[in-house]
Amino acid sequence: MSFVSEFNSLQLDALAKRSLNASGMDARTSLGRTTLSLADFAHLISPVAAELLEALGRRSQQLTRQRFGKVIRLFAPLYLSNECINNCKYCGFSRDNPILRVTLSVEEVLREARALMEQGFRNVLLVSGEHPKFVSTGYLAECVRALHEEVPSISLEVGPMETEDYRPIVEAGADGLVVYQETYDRAVYAEMHTAGPKRNFDWRMETAERGYAAGFRRLGIGALFGLGDWRLEALGVAAHADYLEHFGESDLPTDI
Ligand code: SF4
Repeated sequence: MSFVSEFNSLQLDALAKRSLNASGMDARTSLGRTTLSLADFAHLISPVAAELLEALGRRSQQLTRQRFGKVIRLFAPLYLSNECINNCKYCGFSRDNPILRVTLSVEEVLREARALMEQGFRNVLLVSGEHPKFVSTGYLAECVRALHEEVPSISLEVGPMETEDYRPIVEAGADGLVVYQETYDRAVYAEMHTAGPKRNFDWRMETAERGYAAGFRRLGIGALFGLGDWRLEALGVAAHADYLEHFGESDLPTDI
């Protein structure tokens, strides 16, 4: 069982409709609950909830303080490579675009990270296109190993990989993995991703679970808002986050 099975049984359209038709009372009742369901979340992003913006802000602030204290975590992206084997309609790195392709050497990565550290950044997000030849497990592990002594927190936003391929990168010192689903609408996803392995919606959706299995301590998910209906995307992200929050060793499928 992975989030894919749960996602397939989710009635996102019905939840989006519920959100659009929610009453002021629905929104207020949901806001008053200690534990919120996906239906409550739908009420809180309803048009009528606009009137509760101040109260929503206060609840959000209270939860944020409770979990993180008065801390703002800033990170800086460090682009490793614009090589990519996918075509995504919204991205200039798409494989069919005739642009100059560059992959930084490990020394160049270290130099860039030091420049970011000099500006005060302590969290670095290594970003790249998806290209197993140029951005391989070995290359990523080498970059992380080189940065690990100097950079306190290293995360990755690279093409989805197998659990076994993530392990050496975690062992080298990476602690976070970020993978946006881009859109939780299968039809929009198919329209936007026209070539390459990224066309596989389910494989991408299971990436956070493979990352967890490999030992990443922090997982980041999200949608590229603007591709599909924002309300549906928000519901998809909320459902995914809720699933991962309750995820544990016993949920790991044997083939992940
Ligand atoms: S996979 Fe990522 S880098 Fe490659 S084209 Fe798509 S969005 Fe751009």
